[in-house]
Amino acid sequence: PLEEHDRIYFQSYSHIGIHEAMIKDRIRTDAYHAAIMHHQKFIEGKVVMDVGCGTGILSVFCARAGAKRVRYEILIAKHLAILDLLDHVYAVDASEIAIQTGCSITLFFFLQAREIVKANNLSDQIVVIHGRVEDVDIEEKVDVIISEWMGYMLLYESMLPSVLFARDKWLKPGGLILPSHATLFLAPITNPERYEGSVDFWNDVYGINMSALVPLAKKFTSEEPSIETIGGENVISWPSVIKHINCYTFATEEFKSITAKFKVSSMMLAPVHGFGLWFEVEFNGPAESSHNFPSNLNPLDIIQKKRRRGSDDAVLLSTAPEDEPTHWQQTILYFPDPAEVKQDQVIEGSIRITQSEENPRFLNINLECS
Ligand code: SAH
Repeated sequence: PLEEHDRIYFQSYSHIGIHEAMIKDRIRTDAYHAAIMHHQKFIEGKVVMDVGCGTGILSVFCARAGAKRVRYEILIAKHLAILDLLDHVYAVDASEIAIQTGCSITLFFFLQAREIVKANNLSDQIVVIHGRVEDVDIEEKVDVIISEWMGYMLLYESMLPSVLFARDKWLKPGGLILPSHATLFLAPITNPERYEGSVDFWNDVYGINMSALVPLAKKFTSEEPSIETIGGENVISWPSVIKHINCYTFATEEFKSITAKFKVSSMMLAPVHGFGLWFEVEFNGPAESSHNFPSNLNPLDIIQKKRRRGSDDAVLLSTAPEDEPTHWQQTILYFPDPAEVKQDQVIEGSIRITQSEENPRFLNINLECS
């Protein structure tokens, strides 16, 4: 049986709405599709594992790109194993969506899923396995692991350890991991409208003085990270790299606690309302190196990086404020009160992100700055 926090977590993926939102996020879905096509030569004729397949969309992309086989199989996997043992894309998911799209709860869903697979001429290619990737068993090692594991500010949901688990247990040496690299960024931001809308707002509500609520509004605004879309104009310095993860080599233990120092300088005179966090992932092969830079980015690095982005065709999925918005938006840590900074003023500090002990799907964030 699943632990309570995992039960709640997987249940959150059993609603069709969340899958609709992810699939409709074209920046996300197109990036995965482009990455699969970019590595088509490697994927062709190979065995793929889709960790957290959800609706199975990435499995289908892989199957269409020529992966030898993809197989739909579910909760009652033992019964279904007879369907096909020649699989080659293993689509693994622990949420009910895999059941609903693949089989079980009712025979109806199963038949329906078979129809979908049949309609796409994939009946002998995709195996859907219902279960946690940590618990499932397949009969062979895989050449490719693909997964869309990123949560808000990259790390929320703590799904990466499951992908690393699959890597260590099932990936053949020299295999491909998509995405291959992930980078978490942080920068101070200014957002007067947002602050006025949530805090100053209480000073005058339909002509009523409700300023008694201002301290409470400040507390709520600053206590928890806020998921919202900001633009490049809200960011007041070059971003600092908080963590760069190479999925080929990253060790699961490193995930438990991530600490980084940052030192940036403001590009303008502005009230700083807090810090924004966002991420990028890259889809490089095992032998290719990453585009990103392991330490603080300076303006020159950024310019070089943008140039490289434009000049080669490696795939990058960015959730940065200056890029097109995605369903991840940005994660903002607001201060209770803004702080005025001058141009070139240095903002430095440290951030610690740790998995919550009560619920490892949650994160505790400590940020100090001056
Ligand atoms: N691949 C799909 C869904 C991505 S969302 C798509 O791109 O649209 C992440 C999915 O991973 C969710 O459906 C969730 O239930 C599943 N998941 C997370 N951790 C898992 C684990 N340890 N084992 C199996 N599935 C997992």
